[in-house]
Amino acid sequence: MATEQIKIPKATAKRLPLYYRFLQNLYQTGKLRVSSAELSEAVKVDSATIRRDFSYFGALGKKGYGYNVQYLLNFFRKTLDQDELTKVALIGVGNLGTALLRYNFTKNNNTKICYAFDTNEGKVGTKISDVTVYSLDQLEEIIEKEDIQVVILTVPAHAAQTVTDRLVKTNVKGILNFTPARLNVPPTINVHHIDLAVELQSFVYFIKNYSNEESEA
Ligand code: ATP
Repeated sequence: MATEQIKIPKATAKRLPLYYRFLQNLYQTGKLRVSSAELSEAVKVDSATIRRDFSYFGALGKKGYGYNVQYLLNFFRKTLDQDELTKVALIGVGNLGTALLRYNFTKNNNTKICYAFDTNEGKVGTKISDVTVYSLDQLEEIIEKEDIQVVILTVPAHAAQTVTDRLVKTNVKGILNFTPARLNVPPTINVHHIDLAVELQSFVYFIKNYSNEESEA
């Protein structure tokens, strides 16, 4: 994110991409103004939270008038550093890694997986979408040279910590961890954990046990 920006609460920061995405859609349909109630309905965040979130950026909205879509969009683009492409590296080109490489992240935001790494010699040198798979031997060299600060980890769980220990010694600041492993990192590194199997299992449990009217009573 931009260096000159004010510190905003983490919970607010997490909602920014959501707001940004919705505002992009609104802008494309030619809408000039949006109320916090409309935003609330679309992004499923209550309007009091939206008003509080927006208040961290100064008085962006006027009562009874709503928010200026273009102004907000410019503001979020700058805050989210969307003017500059953020290059991301992916480690572990298995089934999930390949799916992520094929997914067009730039459709919705200005991030792109530009480098992929794997230990499997059969995969090294191949291309997925337009991304070349490099040997893990070149990890530090490429990450340093290209100033990569965000890495997606899709290696098998048993390899996750060893790879992380190598990343910790580079300039990497964030790891999006798709493996089931819990990673040990110094406080200077942010880890965001997405365990799809656990997500699915807990969702299935939720659907089976809580999502009928009886259990809500
Ligand atoms: P596949 O069917 O292609 O093996 P998968 O997702 O079932 O995919 P995994 O065993 O989870 O396979 O491995 C994911 C990828 O991580 C594989 O391409 C594997 O070669 C690679 N890999 C394994 N160990 C490492 C490591 N230490 N560093 C980087 N990549 C690794």
